[in-house]
Amino acid sequence: MIDFRSDTVTRPSAAMLQAMTGAPVGDDVMGDDPSVIALQQAVAARAGKEAGLFFPTGTQSNLAGIMAHCGRGDEYLVGQLAHTYKYEGGGAAVLGSIQPQPIEHEADGTLPIAKLEAAVKPVGDAHYARTRLLALENTFHGKVIPQAYVLEATAFARSRGLATHLDGARVFNASVASGLSLSELCQPFDTVSICFSKGLGAPVGSVLVGSQALIDQARRWRKVLGGGMRQSGVLAAAAHYALEHNVARLADDHDNAHRLGQGLAALPGVQVLAQSTNMVFVSFAPAHRAALNQGLKEAGILMSAVYDGPVRLVTHLDISRADIDRALQVFARLLGA
Ligand SMILES: *Cc1c(COP(=O)(O)O)cnc(C)c1O
Repeated sequence: MIDFRSDTVTRPSAAMLQAMTGAPVGDDVMGDDPSVIALQQAVAARAGKEAGLFFPTGTQSNLAGIMAHCGRGDEYLVGQLAHTYKYEGGGAAVLGSIQPQPIEHEADGTLPIAKLEAAVKPVGDAHYARTRLLALENTFHGKVIPQAYVLEATAFARSRGLATHLDGARVFNASVASGLSLSELCQPFDTVSICFSKGLGAPVGSVLVGSQALIDQARRWRKVLGGGMRQSGVLAAAAHYALEHNVARLADDHDNAHRLGQGLAALPGVQVLAQSTNMVFVSFAPAHRAALNQGLKEAGILMSAVYDGPVRLVTHLDISRADIDRALQVFARLLGA
């Protein structure tokens, strides 16, 4: 199977499983799991932050981060298509009593400063929620958010007394693609949530990094949200293995996505809309859709079903360069090239 649906589909390698089996563990709710502590310290150090906190999912890590910044009746500025707004079940509103203020994205994924400025509510007027936080996402739909924009937007936020959070689910992809270090990418933000279950190849896990004070708040919310895990060192060991072995190789995923995008663009009935880091967004001509939905599956290639909208294909560590070439041959056959 060649699975382009997401980079979440990776399976732990034999070496990762071995690292998990050998991990020393304790009860992490009591604070005594050495493998969890080691992971949190390693990620925080790499991100240039004081402290880290291990979560079962990125959704929970983002939510606990937002709840560490905002209370009931507060609001956060967030992209209209951002994961924390659109794809996390409205958790900030549902569980945090925090109002999102969505902002339309530019084509490059940024949120225009003028729109942010217009969305910040007047202070001390009871008509309004209290604007407390700016939340950005990097990478966004595979795109690396320009660092100059990040610096400008976070400086704007600070000038208005807002805290800053980064949904850095794929911030390591941004780091590898841009050549900027993880700490350079995290430095402008008060908190950053980083996924290990995407292209880094761990089965589960995210780490939230920030100041000790914010992480202490987030630890309380993690328990409230049901994310206090016990002998989670076996999971942290997988993430730690990924941190040490699977970061630099994200460049292979980016090369493979580029190769896939180039190959698809040369085929009839295909329009490559965007390609950056490990994602390719493609639109297929209506005449080919039925053949693709049927034929890809038969050929052992998994891709989100083709309807009217663009399809996202994602590369990851379980897709090799040879898999890309085999997939392109199948696409060519199905598209009648
Ligand atoms: C995957 C993802 C998350 C977290 O998702 P979980 O499945 O809860 O780990 C957050 N933000 C973005 C942009 C993501 O892609």
